Amino acid sequence: MASQTHRPALLQRLPDRVVGLLREIGQLGDERGCRVYVVGGVVRDLLLGHVTLDLDLTVEGDGVAFARLVADRYRAGLAVFERFATARLVFPDGLKIDIATTRRESYALPGVLPTVQPASIEEDLYRRDFTINAIALQLNPGQFGRLLDAYGGQSDLRARTIRVLHAGSFQDDPTRIFRAVRFEQRLKFRLERTTIRLLAQAASTNLIQQLSGPRLQNEILLLLGERDPARVMARLSQLTLLRFLHRRLSYTTNVKRVVTAVPKALTWWTGRFPDRGIDKPIVYFMALSSESSPAVMATMIRRLALSREQARKVSAGGKFVDRVLKRLADEGIVRPSQVYRFLVDLPDEALVLALAKQMSLQQAAILSRLKGQLVAYMKNRTIKTALTGRDLQSMGLQPGPQYGTILGKLLDGRIDGTITTEADEHAFIQKRFGLIG
Ligand code: ATP
Repeated sequence: MASQTHRPALLQRLPDRVVGLLREIGQLGDERGCRVYVVGGVVRDLLLGHVTLDLDLTVEGDGVAFARLVADRYRAGLAVFERFATARLVFPDGLKIDIATTRRESYALPGVLPTVQPASIEEDLYRRDFTINAIALQLNPGQFGRLLDAYGGQSDLRARTIRVLHAGSFQDDPTRIFRAVRFEQRLKFRLERTTIRLLAQAASTNLIQQLSGPRLQNEILLLLGERDPARVMARLSQLTLLRFLHRRLSYTTNVKRVVTAVPKALTWWTGRFPDRGIDKPIVYFMALSSESSPAVMATMIRRLALSREQARKVSAGGKFVDRVLKRLADEGIVRPSQVYRFLVDLPDEALVLALAKQMSLQQAAILSRLKGQLVAYMKNRTIKTALTGRDLQSMGLQPGPQYGTILGKLLDGRIDGTITTEADEHAFIQKRFGLIG
């Protein structure tokens, strides 16, 4: 039958097995007497001709019960988030599908998470952030592939416009201010005129200050994880949104130069050290705050509620990296162990930042020296001494801080090639401390 095999044009790009699965899920919807839709970013991306396999489904009815049914049918793994009436399915082939219940949201206070109640698909779409993200695609057999676009999403996609659904949208959820910039810059769209006015209005109040640290952090790191963070930062700066990280944070020409050099630094790094993964959004955050004082950085770290690990990385950026670069550029620094000592406490992200900073300065000789230093350092940091603290003890050395000093000297010798064997290590200690090894 034609209607059985017909594949709506929009779904042409999805793999056959995914379309087949969606069709079957639609049939299950009919069996359960509920309407099932694909919603949000997937539909947007499909309409733009992009394939996203991050499928979000919503069910007019009990989404969680429906998710259980699908999980049973396909032996998919299931995680239920009761509080949000959502579930995540992981199929045996790795495909992931999130299933929610269509709902309406109400906000007791601006900036806090909403309370939710079941509602129609139209209401569910109305609570969404932008018209382009508020299009649903129905899966039930008779309506398979039908688009539900109650708020002009397709026309805004054609006009390449980001538009909120109602005037209170940014007040309801100020994270949408950052989401607006994220989609605008990613898709190379423009904020629609009223939307930009509403955004500016919302940003002129204390709404964003009321956002919790983790929520603000999430938005900022997502923005910095986009493909072109330099564009994103320029736009945040233009919309005067950087002040929500710190009132003194600004996108100066110098900062911009560093940020713009980060992609080249990352490419160089991953080419040389492919198995040393880099937290890319954090590197960009470090680049953005590269001219900030330690006090400003500390305030931003607190505001964004960065984890201990993230905070450690970010604190190693800034002026600290400038000092390291200055030392490394010093002609007097010739021993590999000296380079090792300057760099050993730095997280990889700070090394990438240092490289980006140096790249932004356009001093070819110093840059190539730095690259050489980094390559040597990365090799040298795998070097170990043969002797350990236990050995020093059995050699009769009194335990204490001097152990660190001695082992450090041994390591320096190994790195510089003046010590190459365990016997050399013994001899070194003997000579320095007059001990019998
Ligand atoms: P991405 O490609 O970045 O994943 P996405 O559109 O899929 O984009 P998600 O954050 O995964 O974004 O959200 C899925 C959908 O949920 C959105 O398309 C939107 O309809 C809705 N949504 C997400 N966050 C909000 C929000 N803060 N306010 C309103 N609707 C939202």
